[in-house]
Amino acid sequence: MQSEALRNRVIETARSMLRLGLTVGTGGNVSVRCPSCNKFLITPSSLPYETLMPEDIVIVDLLDGTYEGCHAPSIEFHLHRNVYVARPDVSAIVHAHPPIASALAVAHKPLPLIIDACTFAFKDEVKVAEYGKPGSLELAENTVRALGDNTAVLLANHGILCVGDRLEEALERCEVLDKAALTYILSLIAGTPVCLKPLSD
Ligand SMILES: [Zn+2]
Repeated sequence: MQSEALRNRVIETARSMLRLGLTVGTGGNVSVRCPSCNKFLITPSSLPYETLMPEDIVIVDLLDGTYEGCHAPSIEFHLHRNVYVARPDVSAIVHAHPPIASALAVAHKPLPLIIDACTFAFKDEVKVAEYGKPGSLELAENTVRALGDNTAVLLANHGILCVGDRLEEALERCEVLDKAALTYILSLIAGTPVCLKPLSD
């Protein structure tokens, strides 16, 4: 069994995602790359986060997408697998359905770097991945393309995905993205937003 501590961190992150209002019910999903093998741990499909036990977490092989565990992995395991394969620098992923950032995803409107917190959390403007049906390879491929080398992406008519070195970092980026989305929408009402440049510029 992969480290019980790592499984518990996945569960804690999923519960925090729910508590912070970044998703409802069993929506969204959380994963972490295994430090010692070519696999990742992910939340199972359609089980309430509140009652998850370490043994409920599913292990997915990065090479062939096969999985082991008592349950099926989240329907979005292709999404997580494709991101880990494309981005060796990523160790943790949180996919959520927060209401405000999702409004930008519905409008197919990227989030520019509008406040300092954005420049620390994201490498550049957060782009919108083209629509793909939930659980599809098309969604996974569109997401990897729009994410590029950034740390977050909006998923058209669906939600968001944030990555990080650690689960806490990926989750915090989800919070920053949703709060910045509110600020951005309000700034559009107040006038014309003035955007910041990436820190790397
Ligand atoms: Zn989703």
